[in-house]
Amino acid sequence: MVDRATGRRVLILGGGAGGLELASQLAGKDGVAVTLIDREMTHLWKPRLHEFAAGTVSSTLAEISFYMLARMRGFHFEQGEVRAIDRAGRRVELGPMRDAEGRELAPARVLSYDLLVVALGGTTPDFGVEGVAENAVRLDGPEDAEDFRTRFAGAMIRARASGMPAEIVIVGSGATGTELAAHLRNSETGFLARGAREAPGKLLGITVLEAAPVVMPGIDDALREKLVERLKQLDIKTVTDAKIAAIEPNAVRSESGERWPADVAVWAAGLVGHPLLQRLADFEIDDKGRIKVDRTLRSTVDERITVMGDAASVTPKGSEKPLPPTAQAAAQQADYLAETIPVLLKGQPVEPFEFKNRGRLVQLGRAGTVGRIGSGYGDDFLIHGQFATAAYNALQRHHQWKVLGRLRGTVAIFADMLSPAKGPALKLHG
Ligand SMILES: Cc1cc2nc3c(=O)[nH]c(=O)nc-3n(C[C@H](O)[C@H](O)[C@H](O)COP(=O)(O)OP(=O)(O)OC[C@H]3O[C@@H](n4cnc5c(N)ncnc54)[C@H](O)[C@@H]3O)c2cc1C
Repeated sequence: MVDRATGRRVLILGGGAGGLELASQLAGKDGVAVTLIDREMTHLWKPRLHEFAAGTVSSTLAEISFYMLARMRGFHFEQGEVRAIDRAGRRVELGPMRDAEGRELAPARVLSYDLLVVALGGTTPDFGVEGVAENAVRLDGPEDAEDFRTRFAGAMIRARASGMPAEIVIVGSGATGTELAAHLRNSETGFLARGAREAPGKLLGITVLEAAPVVMPGIDDALREKLVERLKQLDIKTVTDAKIAAIEPNAVRSESGERWPADVAVWAAGLVGHPLLQRLADFEIDDKGRIKVDRTLRSTVDERITVMGDAASVTPKGSEKPLPPTAQAAAQQADYLAETIPVLLKGQPVEPFEFKNRGRLVQLGRAGTVGRIGSGYGDDFLIHGQFATAAYNALQRHHQWKVLGRLRGTVAIFADMLSPAKGPALKLHG
């Protein structure tokens, strides 16, 4: 784990979309000794969470053991909850591992580094709205997807018995909310009685609420038109200008007093940096709770600490705003850091990170995929149909190749295609 000969120990905190790709590519390079830390034992690629939640894909098909990956790719894996960074001592503190009853299973640990990468991801903020924590599901991790799936199945079983449709209300019309809605429409068919004709809405009502005056603010009008058309095809109701005041046990209530009955409410209203980032060390934090970095992704307070993915607030050259949190950005940062970290460790300068926007695609279950793709240089175009679906799949193929290597990655991709879930649902939305 520790490269004593050269003292080039790289610690990566977080084995998500960005951190795991980096660990896999960096391990073994130029004698760099890589340790990856995650509190989970297995890696689950977050952009597919809504599919696990909807039950259209089983997470067991897609989870990969960090321990196995570490052996396969040549890095060390240390399972544990990151608690604090001691910048002066160049050490990271991990809390003890405990079971559900709080009994200690493994002690707290301290790990030293020469260069640290923070890749701890983000979380869905509740903006202080009442009842979110108690009554809504957020899709931040595998346990949330599992929680939603159980509640959804219960609501559908009740609907089948009573003949009254289950009501799912999703707050937030971003890609997570709209894609989850579309996948739920697929899942509905699994609950229909044998021989029953498919009729959307028979067992399931789906409503997507958006606080802004338009659905999916941030996309252009032409793309939005296509998106709204597809949501209508799927009989998914969208309501705009819906500023939510509270999530009640069985309803969602707006500031203007409107109420939408909800068997299950989903809170998918944006993403901010993990609250832990503010407590880890004395980093500069932006207004979305992310750690500020320079154009080489190094933290503004410590050049031995690099930050990537949803945890990083990076404003690339030519842009006025920090990059939005996407797996697309995390993957490009992993590629960049796999090249630049060995150079930095030799004390040499590196070129700044450049982001190439490959597009924005939204996968809407059986209503297909719509989006915009481009070369990364601004000449993007609107697409839909088979081509869009193929482009949507490309990001996960990239992830599988980077993490598993070309050969194993290709085998995994074929296995994925043959699975009942039919291929990845991987996309590039920004
Ligand atoms: C439902 C959904 C759909 C999405 N779809 C897309 C898409 O189509 N395209 C796209 O580009 N992006 C998509 N995204 C966004 C994308 O998933 C994120 O931008 C991406 O995962 C960020 O990668 P990351 O490595 O920064 O963090 P993450 O992938 O979130 O990984 C963070 C890791 O840190 C670990 N961790 C957290 N805290 C601790 C701790 N204290 N100690 C130890 N380990 C810890 C976690 O276990 C996790 O493994 C989607 C997100 C969601 C929720």
